[in-house]
Amino acid sequence: LKRQMEHSGSLSAIGQLAASIAHELKNAMTSVRGFTELLKLSAEGDSVRYVHVIDSEMDRMESLMAEFLTLSKPTDQEDEVFDLHKCLGDVVTVMEPQATMRNISVFMDNQVGEAVSLKGKKDRMKQAFINLIKNALEASQEGTTLIVSLEHYDDGHIVVAFSDEGSGMTDLQIKQVFLPFFTTKREGTGLGLPFVLETAESMGGHLFVKSELGKGTRIELLLPVQETNPVPTDTDGAAILIP
Ligand code: ADP
Ligand code: MG
Repeated sequence: LKRQMEHSGSLSAIGQLAASIAHELKNAMTSVRGFTELLKLSAEGDSVRYVHVIDSEMDRMESLMAEFLTLSKPTDQEDEVFDLHKCLGDVVTVMEPQATMRNISVFMDNQVGEAVSLKGKKDRMKQAFINLIKNALEASQEGTTLIVSLEHYDDGHIVVAFSDEGSGMTDLQIKQVFLPFFTTKREGTGLGLPFVLETAESMGGHLFVKSELGKGTRIELLLPVQETNPVPTDTDGAAILIP
């Protein structure tokens, strides 16, 4: 865990540096995109392939920049208390089309009856959930299932777990996944999990990876629950909801 924290410390520094030049880079990239489109019109033979490579590498640069910007943004956001069920529900709704496209079923397994309040940066939390679902979908074959579960841990903590039936990871891979830029994907950035780790730790939580090669992966987010005022009950024991 100590090693993981050392890595996450460097992450926002990377993001802040990148954000300051991202704007300049964007202008340059827009121009390259424009000329690539023009090249496409006249490309013949091998050049068609070269232009295609330029295009896909440009895509990669754009997604890298988008992730850099996400990393650098949240520092000026205020912490807020938000509802975990709603946050998770929103994210699953957003990601469902991507799962359907790959013929992967996503199930919510809510083992916690009552509402759960968390304290932190809601948008970051959403982005972290998106990163985890994206990774699970990218590792999964058609026809498999991804389970997003909400589990009780103790009075002060909740577990949000993402269990896929995908490729799984080797022990060496598991050790490296929190290193910024570690990726096994051709189009990967290696910033997804470092971001999730940093988000969890900024909320006083932890992140655990359990994975077996060829079987699947379970990523657990252990998060502290925000104390809300206890809901008073009337004499019959039924809850009275106070807005
Ligand atoms: P990226 O997705 O851009 O590669 P991440 O930080 O999100 O970067 O993930 C780092 C690496 O961890 C991935 O390249 C992959 O090898 C591994 N990984 C993450 N999530 C999973 C998962 N659910 N199943 C298998 N491997 C995973
Ligand atoms: Mg990822």
